Amino acid sequence: MRLSRSFLPTLRDTPKEAEIVSHRLMLRAGLIRQQAAGIYSWLPLGKRVLANIERIVREEQDRAGAIEVLMPTLQSADLWRESGRYDDYGKEMLRIKDRHEREMLYGPTNEEMITDIFRSYVRSYKELPLNLYHIQWKFRDEVRPRFGVMRGREFLMKDAYSFDIDEAAARRSYNRMFVAYLRTFDRLGVKAIPMRADSGPIGGDATHEFIVLAATGESAVFLDKEALDAPVPGADTDFSGDLTPIVSAWTTKYAATEEMHDKSAFEAIPEDRRLEARGIEVGQVFYFGTKYSTPLGAKVSGPDGADHDVHMGSYGIGVSRLVAAVIEASHDDAGIIWPSSIAPYQVGLINLKAGDANTDAACDGLYQRLMNAGIEVLYDDVDGRAGAKFATMDLIGLPWQLIVGPKGLANGEVELKRRATGERETLTLDAAVNRLV
Ligand code: ATP
Ligand code: MG
Ligand code: MG
Ligand code: MG
Repeated sequence: MRLSRSFLPTLRDTPKEAEIVSHRLMLRAGLIRQQAAGIYSWLPLGKRVLANIERIVREEQDRAGAIEVLMPTLQSADLWRESGRYDDYGKEMLRIKDRHEREMLYGPTNEEMITDIFRSYVRSYKELPLNLYHIQWKFRDEVRPRFGVMRGREFLMKDAYSFDIDEAAARRSYNRMFVAYLRTFDRLGVKAIPMRADSGPIGGDATHEFIVLAATGESAVFLDKEALDAPVPGADTDFSGDLTPIVSAWTTKYAATEEMHDKSAFEAIPEDRRLEARGIEVGQVFYFGTKYSTPLGAKVSGPDGADHDVHMGSYGIGVSRLVAAVIEASHDDAGIIWPSSIAPYQVGLINLKAGDANTDAACDGLYQRLMNAGIEVLYDDVDGRAGAKFATMDLIGLPWQLIVGPKGLANGEVELKRRATGERETLTLDAAVNRLV
């Protein structure tokens, strides 16, 4: 993408309303624009990051055996009356009436709807286990939307729902999602620790929240530092095998949110290993048994020929929140530092003398070669001051900057800068291309 043809509205000044660094940087780097309290447009750079996160989330859901569907954002109130949650959910639910006075709502989550889909088609235990997920916008009328997309009212969530014949099988489904989450967050470049958590309005008795440690996080957390060291399962993990050793390795060390904190268990850990910190909830996994299948009548016939209410779990990831969470975990004074897996472009190609025939030709050539090699490049081909160009590239945080000016070119050289470390190297054009492809 040539900067001259792009739409990349960066801000010079720090917006006053933004209280935390990720919100400030998302506004300044032109990733989002607020349209109403807690409701945002995604501008091109932000949209690319969001799409990259979605892709990784999808790949890991698919790897774990979940199947993608897409449910609507608007739901009928009737289904929620069947589960009893229409009244329980309270003011966080945005309720809408259509022209026929039918009661609708903007979905805050999808347990009821997915259970309705399940009960309409699945009849036998032989069709299980089944795990269906979608990546869809949710609306929760949060009392205090804040911190940009971190706590929005409209936000993008991946939510998966597992169906099993009994509790033991449901625990295996839970473990598959648990392991998928470890891999997902690792690939997104964040360290998310599964912590014992409270089940809240969704209900149930087995749940973990995946939490990224950050000083600006809204949750208080308590953990044994050794909980930070468990190894992330590889891409070759056999999801049809027994995953309990992996789950155990990640859940035996103390790690709990405030609501589940057990002071005496925590104080039993040697003092130098205790960590009291704050964190951002980027995902949560639940096992809740037959909480929805019973009232909604989602049953299958079992091997014994009798009908059984299915055992369910639900598994959320805050896709849009993750954009902010990654920035909280990865930035410096100059701006964002994207992990390369989700960066909007891999390389920022900076033309230091746009309009100079020789520099333009060298940049155009590098741009073509990188593009041909499948590398995503943002090419700053605009006539501007070097200082401002560097500042913008640092702000938007692409992993590499390839800096091309007439002085270097006179010696056949360009400069390659790694955003994360600031490390710079002078290389020939060929060597620079080889380094990047
Ligand atoms: P929180 O405790 O932050 O309010 P939650 O526990 O209510 O979140 P879940 O129902 O577990 O949220 O939804 C799954 C995921 O969706 C959360 O782990 C979080 O990452 C994300 N999420 C929830 N609420 C919001 C929100 N208002 N804005 C952005 N992301 C959100
Ligand atoms: Mg909430
Ligand atoms: Mg929560
Ligand atoms: Mg939660």
